[in-house]
Amino acid sequence: MTDGHGQADDGIEPDGGEATTEDPSTEMSITTDVSESVSASATTGEADTLVEARDVSVYYNDERALNDITMEIPRNRVTAMIGPSGCGKSTFLRCINRMNDMIDAARVEGDLLLRGKNVYDDDVDPVALRRRVGMVFQKPNPFPKSIYDNVAYGLEIQGADGDYDAIVEESLKRAALWDEVKDQLDESGLDLSGGQQQRLCIARAIAPDPEVILMDEPASALDPVATSKIEDLIDDLAEEYTVVIVTHNMQQAARISDKTAVFLTGGELVEFDDTDKIFENPDSQRVEDYITGKFG
Ligand code: ADP
Repeated sequence: MTDGHGQADDGIEPDGGEATTEDPSTEMSITTDVSESVSASATTGEADTLVEARDVSVYYNDERALNDITMEIPRNRVTAMIGPSGCGKSTFLRCINRMNDMIDAARVEGDLLLRGKNVYDDDVDPVALRRRVGMVFQKPNPFPKSIYDNVAYGLEIQGADGDYDAIVEESLKRAALWDEVKDQLDESGLDLSGGQQQRLCIARAIAPDPEVILMDEPASALDPVATSKIEDLIDDLAEEYTVVIVTHNMQQAARISDKTAVFLTGGELVEFDDTDKIFENPDSQRVEDYITGKFG
């Protein structure tokens, strides 16, 4: 049985792929196969939960950046992480696809479950995990390759068979970029505008058919028109994917997310709830003060 992403219900994708030096998401050495079952989620978690953090703490050397984070991120929704700078939002995002592994000083404690499977288990291949959990960064980072190759890149490294042309087209369509680039697929991705480059990076993240897309302030380097396109796109993406987005822009979180997590000083998750509730009637006074601009 598949979940609509062409992947078995019960496993982090087993194929290891080849590590290369061009993409930070593939710099890990590949040590293990991850065909291990993750079917536990069917019996342990709410059906709706795709990603679950249980008592996750992260340290950089001896400094604690995240303090006992527990939360359930629902499938096919947009979950926003807001809070002042330095409170651990990006650190948390990087736990979900193990990008913190690449930071020597970082140490993660607790459990981070994807469909009930702890992504920190020894048998999980981080490279395979990162195809299931794609990431888009603040600054658009296309490769110095053609538009086509940028999108096909993830497929090539996993040695996917099949029709790359169709997948590239579909990924660019889902990233709302196809109409603008369909006649220039051989041109460099670096020649696109900033907003187009970011949508190209989203297309690249989509191509391997992930379940989760992590976005770390994806519009903060863009102008208002490009930002608005990215926001519309995020809304569309949630029909197909689970989106987790860090944003420093509270209005953006209010506009685009279904759930909002508020992180405050000390790497603490102070409140996590429906976005309307967080912005209209938060339980925590500290959250209310933050939302209303009294601090932060
Ligand atoms: P946010 O995304 O909310 O701005 P971060 O997750 O970037 O917060 O940072 C949380 C804390 O962890 C900060 O104190 C920051 O200085 C520290 N930190 C983040 N990345 C590193 C790193 N690579 N090495 C050491 N400390 C880090």
